[in-house]
Amino acid sequence: MHHFDMIIDGKAVSSPAQIEVIDPATEAVCGTVPDCTRDQLDAAVAAARAAFPAWRALPHADRQDALRAIASTIVEHKDELQQLLTAEQGKPLAAAMGEIEAAAWWISTVAASKLPVETNDMMPGSRSITKRVPLGVVGAIVPWNFPVLLAVWKIGPALLTGNTMVLKPSPNTPLATLRLGALLQDKLPHGVLNMVSGGDMLGPWMSAHPGIDKISFTGSTATGRKVMESAAANLKRLTLELGGNDAAIVLPDVDVAAIAEPLFWAAFANSGQVCVAAKRLYVHEAVYDEVLAALKDVAARMAVGDGRDPQTALGPVQNRAQFERVRELIRDAEANGYTIATGGEPANGPGFFVPVTLVDNPPEQSRVVQEEAFGPVLPVLKFSDIDEVVARANACEYGLGGSVWSSDIDKAAQVAARLETGTVWINSAQGLTPFAAFAGHKQSGIGAENGLEGLLEFTVPQTIYRPEPAL
Ligand code: NAD
Repeated sequence: MHHFDMIIDGKAVSSPAQIEVIDPATEAVCGTVPDCTRDQLDAAVAAARAAFPAWRALPHADRQDALRAIASTIVEHKDELQQLLTAEQGKPLAAAMGEIEAAAWWISTVAASKLPVETNDMMPGSRSITKRVPLGVVGAIVPWNFPVLLAVWKIGPALLTGNTMVLKPSPNTPLATLRLGALLQDKLPHGVLNMVSGGDMLGPWMSAHPGIDKISFTGSTATGRKVMESAAANLKRLTLELGGNDAAIVLPDVDVAAIAEPLFWAAFANSGQVCVAAKRLYVHEAVYDEVLAALKDVAARMAVGDGRDPQTALGPVQNRAQFERVRELIRDAEANGYTIATGGEPANGPGFFVPVTLVDNPPEQSRVVQEEAFGPVLPVLKFSDIDEVVARANACEYGLGGSVWSSDIDKAAQVAARLETGTVWINSAQGLTPFAAFAGHKQSGIGAENGLEGLLEFTVPQTIYRPEPAL
């Protein structure tokens, strides 16, 4: 059983009430964390505000060093963080280590970034210099699918650009994040990075808090809408990374044997709980039967089980509510008489295990196609014409990602360019880097994370006009 405190102004802080963290593989309580009170949130925001002037005044190089120290700390403690992550999130140990190592790499890569300075001499006698300055206090709100990596996506650029922070992990997965927060306190001035944990009220308190200047939010589109509403009171800056229902389009010229495994992982990595997972698989009719059979073969080889078992390829779904949602989509498919090619109704626990489920060519308007499953259930759909499939892929309120699979890269790139999404992969999916902007189109988000655009989201331009030549 683990217990971690919140971090406010560099100190460990408990609270009158605790929330329990459930191990999704056993449904047993595996930890407790504080349920932050309103006063404690106010104290965290005040600490971040007090730390801001000195942190923003530091030379950029000093903040770069701080980020490198964070990366080193993650690496030094990666085994402990891995165990915590698997216990609370459910993912296999190897995947947990992959997430922790990616987090360290990400933040050390972001540390190398510089902010642009724009000088303009177009007006005689006057020069303008536009720099990027920090916003102030950033509130970061993180979901439960990649708790450590997605926290680091926010910590790196927010701190590098001179902001201070109050970060809230999901109540479902706060353990590794709070542990990391504690480990980082001797690497940063007090108050620069505060961490709070709590239940349903804490996120709304943060997004409405008058002392927070920006919310960087990753989560569902429904919650993103609420964040946007409550952020209006003090015109907070917002970055919203939200849901998706990514289409993967398989063209008739694919080498089915070569793509079967990557295509499987495009949909089922992290048990389908990835914002950019392939969630609708459109396969050309010429290769449909072959692709479906190949995916079934891969599924049969991948064990679903406890993430601590080295044989496990796919862990449980992370929480009861998500398990019910995924089961409901499977039941709906069964009740409507759609063909379940493999998988189906999950067994009754303990553990939120869902078998890899492929639904064979359900109607386009079925729930399993139209709704974001965020679990290991995938509709496989037949198409015959490129224009038709592009229209079907784009007929969606989301616009997060998508992928095109073909032996002809140029042809695939032409299809990719027609997708109304922020990211498109060719012959792969889900791979993201710190170097390129990740942005949701339509109702998948506002703004961007990663790349220069992601960095700039934590800043605001400041232009200084000065007489030239100097008087
Ligand atoms: P969620 O929206 O339920 O919760 C996300 C976070 O918001 C949690 O920390 C939660 O405690 C907090 N929260 C809940 N209600 C809030 C409110 N009213 N105001 C402020 N904060 C609130 O999402 P989830 O179930 O944790 O994650 C799954 C969803 O996240 C999926 O839709 C998935 O596609 C999306 N997601 C998107 C990305 C991306 O980068 N686009 C990445 C991962 C997950």
